[in-house]
Amino acid sequence: MGVSRRQFLKGSGLAAGAVALGAKPALAGPDSPELRTKGLQTTTTVCPYCSVGCGMIVHTRGGKIVNIEGDPEHPINRGSLCSKGSALYQVANNERRLTKVQYRAPGSDHWQEVSWNWAMDRIATLMKESRDRHFVTEETVGGRSYAVNRNDGMAFLGGAALDSEECYLWSKFARAMGVGYLEHQARI
Ligand code: SF4
Repeated sequence: MGVSRRQFLKGSGLAAGAVALGAKPALAGPDSPELRTKGLQTTTTVCPYCSVGCGMIVHTRGGKIVNIEGDPEHPINRGSLCSKGSALYQVANNERRLTKVQYRAPGSDHWQEVSWNWAMDRIATLMKESRDRHFVTEETVGGRSYAVNRNDGMAFLGGAALDSEECYLWSKFARAMGVGYLEHQARI
């Protein structure tokens, strides 16, 4: 038996009405955002991975990260994250994550655990030595000498994990070291 266009629309409307009458208001499930984050500390941050700079919300309980998701109010990503950014939680909560400084001495075939203080002192000492060894005070161009006070033995590279204020401090530190080769990964 054929069904006219009018009969079809009429039948569809009745069916939709029946479904609407039978529907119950959606109950909040375990994935409801309000329940998932209830009672948690909320902090906004920027994804450390690439120069897109997606905004994130980090939820913590007792100082421990329990959830990371895209920030719906961030103008760049509006809540979305790529697969890499979505997996950031696993960087913070991972049994294979190194939590102690590992040091391998020149020529050594193994790593050893050292303290943060030892590592920072070692880095500072080597940076100072390198700076002093490669510091250029003067350059002669066209027979004339110019003061340049430049560190030619070092380069600084900023990463996407740095926010604006950290970038400012990073560039100040680079200039204080006499570094001219200063670059940054993020270009937004
Ligand atoms: S979520 Fe993905 S696209 Fe966004 S900043 Fe992180 S790595 Fe880049």
